[in-house]
Amino acid sequence: MKYYSTRKKSQEVSFRNAVIRGLAPDGGLYFPERIEKLPDGLIGCGKSIEELGFEVAKRFVDGEIPEVNLEQIVSETVNFPLPVVEVETDVFSLELWHGPTCAFKDVGGRFLARCLEYFVKESGEKITILVATSGDTGSAVAAGFLGVQGIDVVILYPKGLVSKIQEQQLTTMGQNISTLEVEGSFDDCQAMVKQAFNDSELRAAMKLSSANSINVARFLPQSFYYFGSYEKLEDKTKPVVYSCPSGNFGNLTAGMFAKEMGLPIAKFIGATNANDVVPEYLRTGVYTARPSIPTISNAMDIGDPSNFVRILELHGGNWEKVKESMVGYAFSDEETKGGMRDVISRTGYLMEPHGVIGYMAVKEYQKNHDVQGVVLETAHPAKFGDVVEPAIGKKVDIPERLQEYLRREKVATLIQPDFDQFKQFLLERI
Ligand SMILES: *Cc1c(COP(=O)(O)O)cnc(C)c1O
Repeated sequence: MKYYSTRKKSQEVSFRNAVIRGLAPDGGLYFPERIEKLPDGLIGCGKSIEELGFEVAKRFVDGEIPEVNLEQIVSETVNFPLPVVEVETDVFSLELWHGPTCAFKDVGGRFLARCLEYFVKESGEKITILVATSGDTGSAVAAGFLGVQGIDVVILYPKGLVSKIQEQQLTTMGQNISTLEVEGSFDDCQAMVKQAFNDSELRAAMKLSSANSINVARFLPQSFYYFGSYEKLEDKTKPVVYSCPSGNFGNLTAGMFAKEMGLPIAKFIGATNANDVVPEYLRTGVYTARPSIPTISNAMDIGDPSNFVRILELHGGNWEKVKESMVGYAFSDEETKGGMRDVISRTGYLMEPHGVIGYMAVKEYQKNHDVQGVVLETAHPAKFGDVVEPAIGKKVDIPERLQEYLRREKVATLIQPDFDQFKQFLLERI
């Protein structure tokens, strides 16, 4: 199986090289040359997420990781609960936050890390992963790589611009994870990472890689839980829609891949905050990237969603076809707060600011469609306690695995947003 770049100006590569490279050299995203349907007798037959995930992964990895190893990788990727909770009639919450960092990104992070570990072991290379984070992504990626041999991770985060709990997660892992606290913005962090990839001296000295959601090994495994959750729905006759609180639209794209593979999903709902370029595209047929707007569901503050090109690619670039497969809704911060209050007071179920946007979108869609809606609940409410608590007027319990981070001692190197300082730091580590 080959992977081509969505810009079609780079060579096709193997799964291995697509994973190691992350982004194609022409700036496009890697895309598999085909998406195979799963054979009859797999979907809707009560199989486990491990079995289904393996069947999916095998078709994309296509022999580049031996089946025994791949089976192990898949089972370690989803070795925590991914329950489907009924919030009310015909609305279900797929809780994706039972992993080590309480965010759905654990799934992609774990799969990517284990695939890279396999490839690095095979070749004896050492890889340094650079991750710029605005708060949430860095910890899931780093936790995925924690203790993985042959791979070092360097995280960059903007000083003072992440929450206490996020900072503790970013700065206390130790082992092969090191953290730089940058006296600047997230954009400064990202700019330094980009510059590092373009620096010939650094590239000659060390093998650099990235781990953001453009990587095929980060977004593909997210399809596993679409298959897994579908098995748990009792009613297989009423149409099912999946609602994804979206930023870069990796989660939603993974669902579209699951559908291509045969999972009977009637519609996708792309739910956003004020950063609504995709709902706007669905309305007007025009895609206009713009700078992101800060909101209380900040993991979705994306003004130019990276996976949108994959959605286009799946639908031959055709607006009508995209509109057949998905709808979009956007919600303000006020609606988000009101939504959290409303869900807990009516149903007793607590949602956080991202998931609740997906929930409100399902309710909107159900006004005109008789369907079951599955909402991807992408994080634990305690990760966004400073937003959730005032909205619902109650304290949120912090799960033990988050409290554990709060007890540890922060270790981070403070640097200026200055590329030479960053480069020096990297070179000293070889
Ligand atoms: C990353 C993130 C999202 C957005 O996911 P995409 O795949 O980028 O659309 C939603 N919610 C939370 C909590 C996140 O961390």
